[in-house]
Amino acid sequence: MAITPMRRLEASRSLPGQVSLLGSRTLSDGRRVGTPINSAGVPTVAKSLSRIRSRALQLQGGRCFYCSVLMWTDDCGAFAKRHRLPLRLAKWLQCTAEHLQARQEGGRDSIKNIAAACRVCNHRRHAQRRIAPTPEEYRALVRKRVSKKAWHPPQVFERGLIGGG
Ligand SMILES: [Zn+2]
Repeated sequence: MAITPMRRLEASRSLPGQVSLLGSRTLSDGRRVGTPINSAGVPTVAKSLSRIRSRALQLQGGRCFYCSVLMWTDDCGAFAKRHRLPLRLAKWLQCTAEHLQARQEGGRDSIKNIAAACRVCNHRRHAQRRIAPTPEEYRALVRKRVSKKAWHPPQVFERGLIGGG
């Protein structure tokens, strides 16, 4: 039987002897990198990032920062069913945390630097070029494609998942 992420989390919680910053390491200049884990065994960075992502999603009315598609956060199956989309297509409409300024370039996990973006937009922004286009450049490009009913498969447009504000 496959171990679900939740099971794994519960398992890690119950491990004895967890220390507060397990999973992170300290560089020679004293900066700490990696994913800190709190005393309950929960990765704290990921948790706060998902909170920021949720807040961004709320501010954006549940829609992608770039293409304005409606996104899901928890239940891909329910989303697919509600909008009559095939699962393999719906999974690309998952809400992800998009770093407007990349982490490698010093971008932080803050509400100012995190936008809620669909998996398609997030993936494509970083997939093709070594240096991602700026958020403004990329948004303009995406909007242009969306206005021509491209970027997403036809079903996404037919189900009225793009638009609004
Ligand atoms: Zn998008």
